[in-house]
Amino acid sequence: MTEKQPAPANDSEPPPGGVGRPSLFGLTDETLVTWLGERGHQRFRAGQVLEWVYRHGAGTFDEMTNLSKSLRAELAASMTLFESRIAAKSESRDSTTKLLLRWSDRSTSECVLIPDDQRRTACISTQVGCPVGCLFCASGLDGLQRNLTSAQIVEQAMRVAQLCAPERLTNIVFMGLGEPLANYAATVAATRTINAAWGPNVGARKITVSTVGLPSQMRRLADEGLQITLALSLHAPDDALRRRLIPWAETVSIDDLVAAARYYFDSTTREVTLEYILLGGVNDQPQHAHQLSTLCKRMRSNVNLIPYNPVPTLPYRRPADDAQHGFLLLLRERGINAHLRRSRGLDISAACGQLRRQAASRK
Ligand code: SAH
Ligand code: SF4
Repeated sequence: MTEKQPAPANDSEPPPGGVGRPSLFGLTDETLVTWLGERGHQRFRAGQVLEWVYRHGAGTFDEMTNLSKSLRAELAASMTLFESRIAAKSESRDSTTKLLLRWSDRSTSECVLIPDDQRRTACISTQVGCPVGCLFCASGLDGLQRNLTSAQIVEQAMRVAQLCAPERLTNIVFMGLGEPLANYAATVAATRTINAAWGPNVGARKITVSTVGLPSQMRRLADEGLQITLALSLHAPDDALRRRLIPWAETVSIDDLVAAARYYFDSTTREVTLEYILLGGVNDQPQHAHQLSTLCKRMRSNVNLIPYNPVPTLPYRRPADDAQHGFLLLLRERGINAHLRRSRGLDISAACGQLRRQAASRK
């Protein structure tokens, strides 16, 4: 389905950059060394460029003052740094800040800064829209428009890094628009860059990839040699209920997911996080907590309860606070390591996909 686009912030806004040129965010240190070497530049120049980009957050090649003017001009003529334009920005009362980015093909995606006491987390997207179409989620309402490239995924992290500079990003969650494991190669390439010592250098254990549950891709991710956290969006303790909420669950059973999660733990020794949205009157009853605790004991996991962020036009609601805590206690009484996620950015519709839809509907 064609995406409706938000109106430009103002008519004189320049078009997004990057048309036809590769993005520096898509390069590794080695590919940059090669690129420079082919043009007669020394190896150490790559380190200087990457330091400007990822340590100092340079927005243009012209800022890289320890490079010659001619090299800066060569870089600027050959590649882009920031392709996106910020089409909208909203800051919540709790300091959660959401950006709507517009890419050179004029499609849009969202990324969010979630600051906490000691942490600065970037929530980033992997696709424009989502092909899955979970019934409670704003991201998939218009289907998938396209995959984001690895460069665009990294660029989102850097846009969020700009928001919290001079502090560094400490955590990355792939919980924005889209299904990361349905855009597998770009997600893994971006993860490697975000984790790299020459890149944003976010520790692998501080990077979380959230998936609706694609067992073969979960296994493939387990074999990548990355120590990242895998979060599995379970949302229901039995197949019948899960299939009512998640269209792709039709062909994937919870047994398949348990087997893939066990494989992930066995290969990485990283516990899988089970995400469970609390939807009032749908999956938040005591019997669901009992079923969920039985299921959790089949694998090494912890549970992250997510109070639902209501989406206009969708019929789901967030349970009352005491019902959320009651569900948490039932899990804990059964020995499950469970947490209730604090809601952030409610007043700016920080749930994935919402800002983009609001911008589209304002048009
Ligand atoms: N597609 C992946 C990652 C993006 S969604 C996945 O589904 O896991 C990231 C998380 O946000 C998922 O657990 C998803 O179910 C949850 N989510 C989606 N819409 C939400 C909403 N309105 N309120 C709270 N959580 C939501
Ligand atoms: Fe896609 Fe995840 Fe939203 Fe489901 S919850 S529609 S998989 S983004």
